[in-house]
Amino acid sequence: MSKARPADLSAPRRAFPGGVGAWRWALAAAVLTLTLAAFLLTLQAGHDQVRRASRQRLVIAEAVLRAAIDRYQYLPTVLALDTQVQDLLADPDAPGAITAVNAKFEAIARASKVAAIYLMDGQGLTRSASNWNQPLSFVGSSYAYRPYFRDALATGASRYFGVGTTTQQPGLFIGKAVPSPNGPTAGVVVVKVDLEDLQGEWRRAGEQILVSDAAGIVFLASEPGWKYRPFRRLAAADTSRIRAAQQYGDSDLRPLLEDGRVDLGETIRLPAGGRTASGLVEPIAMPDLGWTLWYVAPTGPALRQAILVAAATGIAGLALAFALVAASQRRQRLRSEQSMRIALERRVAERTHDLSDANARLRAEISERERATAALRATQDELIHAGRLAALGQISTAINHEINQPLAALRTFLASTTVFLERGDESTVRRNLQRMTEVTQRIAEIIRHLKDFARKTGPGHSEPVRLAATAEAALDLLRVRLRAEDVTVTCAIPADALVRAEPVRLEQVLLNLMVNALDAMRGASERRLDLTARREPASCWQLVVADSGSGISPEHMPQIFDPFFTTKPAGEGLGLGLSLSSLIVRDLGGSLTAGNGARGAVLTLVLPAAEA
Ligand code: ADP
Repeated sequence: MSKARPADLSAPRRAFPGGVGAWRWALAAAVLTLTLAAFLLTLQAGHDQVRRASRQRLVIAEAVLRAAIDRYQYLPTVLALDTQVQDLLADPDAPGAITAVNAKFEAIARASKVAAIYLMDGQGLTRSASNWNQPLSFVGSSYAYRPYFRDALATGASRYFGVGTTTQQPGLFIGKAVPSPNGPTAGVVVVKVDLEDLQGEWRRAGEQILVSDAAGIVFLASEPGWKYRPFRRLAAADTSRIRAAQQYGDSDLRPLLEDGRVDLGETIRLPAGGRTASGLVEPIAMPDLGWTLWYVAPTGPALRQAILVAAATGIAGLALAFALVAASQRRQRLRSEQSMRIALERRVAERTHDLSDANARLRAEISERERATAALRATQDELIHAGRLAALGQISTAINHEINQPLAALRTFLASTTVFLERGDESTVRRNLQRMTEVTQRIAEIIRHLKDFARKTGPGHSEPVRLAATAEAALDLLRVRLRAEDVTVTCAIPADALVRAEPVRLEQVLLNLMVNALDAMRGASERRLDLTARREPASCWQLVVADSGSGISPEHMPQIFDPFFTTKPAGEGLGLGLSLSSLIVRDLGGSLTAGNGARGAVLTLVLPAAEA
């Protein structure tokens, strides 16, 4: 039978060239890439959204800032056309002129909520101001060095954001040249607009907004710390120009960004008090003013959203990867289980085939054994029968004598009876007839024994048998020989000794034992045959047949139960008696053993007891 294993058992197939490990690494890399891609894409989308929102906010913030400025744009123009203003410049010493303009400026400033309105002559000296009656009044101060004065003189109008040199208050200075009847310009009227409130609004809205001037200096911001500082370090010329004009008071003009980089659309990190304000920075230019409005949008929410999306993607990817790994492991397990099942089935089939082979062989052996047993049994039956015939032959001479004697006696009785009949001795005739009847009965008895003995009986038919009666019957068959050889027989078998046996077979066994005993005692001086029976063990009867013969020599002892073993001269013994007897006894469920007693041999027969 072939024991070769199938190829798929010894070399499991691999779905991935690098093996299971590489396959898992590839899966892990894919999940990682997916997570990273989800993070970057979501962050990008978030930033785009933040930028769009920033631009919208910037448009609004610019509109608000422009409205705050434009609201007052007309005011210096109107005041420059005012005759009282022009008259004051034409004749500053005219009585009541200054007082009248001061009052006018004060009233207009209060009504329009501007920080200050003032009028400078052609040399920059302030002739009249709305704060004429306040401690920090502009009246008498010269602002000829301020750009809003010079620009207005030069171009007719100016706009300038700066910190007031007198009040230290920042504001937008809107200047307008006052025409003169004698020359082009008599002086400059200025409206200072306070834009500080705008910053408060930005702060309250949580927005980070900055406004820088043309030099890049932040002058309006939602965060106070950012004000009057340039984004990047200023050139020395710019610094000295701004200091000379005192545009931002005594600010040290320290740059906001140490590396000074502000790229459009990039993120920015600005120090804000103790913390850092960071975000995407979006600018919008206000070219007419030379200003730039900056919106700094925090990127925290976009980052958080990107992290969330990446985490969700990662978890989903991991779950998918686990599911894939589990499925692949399950597939692998199923495959190996299937291979094992196939191998097992193959082995079972082989084993079944082997078993059925063995079974067939066993059946053949059994039927062979049965045939042999049947043949053996037939031979045994034949042998038993032959043994019985041998015993018959042995005893027939004695029986012949036993029958001839009664026949002779019968003939004598008949002759004497005839005589007594003629004499008329009726009583003797009757006695003789009685004796003759007894003699014929004796003959009939002997013949019946012989018939029973010679009959071939089938095995296995056992019944309760009286041991004493069977021994008596066997002794009966040997009666002639016992008498001729002058054997003393003692028979101590209790009348209630009942065994389970086949009567004829048991008789054959006893007959064998007795014949052997008689044979052994042939040359002995004393001839005794003792039969004793006792209940031992409790479930059996033990019959001991002891003689006073030669006994069994120790070298013969192991062989006496062998078939055809005999020590008797040729023609006298077949060597079958003991072997057949032990067979019969074993068939009956008993045992037969041999030994030597004080004088001769002792044969012990044990048979199962039967209840009456
Ligand atoms: P056979 O009587 O034909 O020899 P058996 O099987 O009956 O065959 O006996 C075998 C032998 O056992 C006898 O030849 C004899 O030597 C021995 N044997 C049997 N019974 C006795 C006995 N009672 N005393 C002495 N020897 C015996």
